[in-house]
Amino acid sequence: MPSGSVQRRTAKARLRYSGEFFHEAEAGLPRDKTDHGLDTCTSEQQALRALLAIAVFNSDGLGAPPRDWGIHVIRVYTLRMSARFNDLHIATDCPWNVSRRINTPRADSAYRIPGLRTLCHRFDHTTLRHLPTRAFLLVRFNHEEGSRLVCGRPCPDSDLDKDMLPVDHPMGPQEISELATVPPMSPAAQTLLAALLVRMALQAPDGTWATAGWHYPPRDIPNAFPNQNEIGKALWGANDHWSLRWYGFPNPEFVAAALTDPVIGLAGATVEDVGNDFVVSYRSARLRLVEHNRHMLGSTQAVLQALERQE
Ligand SMILES: [Zn+2]
Repeated sequence: MPSGSVQRRTAKARLRYSGEFFHEAEAGLPRDKTDHGLDTCTSEQQALRALLAIAVFNSDGLGAPPRDWGIHVIRVYTLRMSARFNDLHIATDCPWNVSRRINTPRADSAYRIPGLRTLCHRFDHTTLRHLPTRAFLLVRFNHEEGSRLVCGRPCPDSDLDKDMLPVDHPMGPQEISELATVPPMSPAAQTLLAALLVRMALQAPDGTWATAGWHYPPRDIPNAFPNQNEIGKALWGANDHWSLRWYGFPNPEFVAAALTDPVIGLAGATVEDVGNDFVVSYRSARLRLVEHNRHMLGSTQAVLQALERQE
């Protein structure tokens, strides 16, 4: 098959899950156009994505101390991810608000991601650079025009607000100490957590599962468990062993499906149903998915069947 056809087919398969525009999905494909590209990135990107996972999936009372970084609240915005080899785009209807939740303001008491700096800021996009990993992150509008945006890193008309830290602002002692509290990760665990982050807003085209930003289930997705977002989430572990705990949407099998789906999953990742939990394995790394309602109510399938019988 001509390579152009392979590229189109792979990009179309990717966007059916990611919700990207065609040219976005195409831009995210690696050199081997047969791969969806969600996990093909620089080591700098992978390190930042894994750190973002720690930041996003620790929230409220249940979360480990990175919850205080505050960026977990981005899930309340409608967003989708567009993973690139050397970049990660967060597309949203509210780029200004979302970038405000991610970038590190000047006030020492309000860190988001330690070491993140604003490289370019306009009304329609913000480009951030993470000093320790040297990786880029772009927050921009979700619409067609926004999706074609190429930031000049920085753009000529970039105008940083006075409380945004520029890239020449060095890491402070508090940032260094907060970053040091993140447990060490094995290379396989870093890949797995990065894969979790870039799959936080997917939806299977056949409607059997969705992660959909981890906020509310999309219509027609069979969400079996009540939403209890206020209790929070926790992603923690060390080296090869990690666990993600939460209440409510998404169903744990949805998260497992996102990571192991034959089309959009992480190549080589497998899942095992272990009683009330799922364990996703990737090489030497293990991620235990613990949705707490499942411990009280049983499997999602059993809950759905019980609900059906009541109708
Ligand atoms: Zn720019």
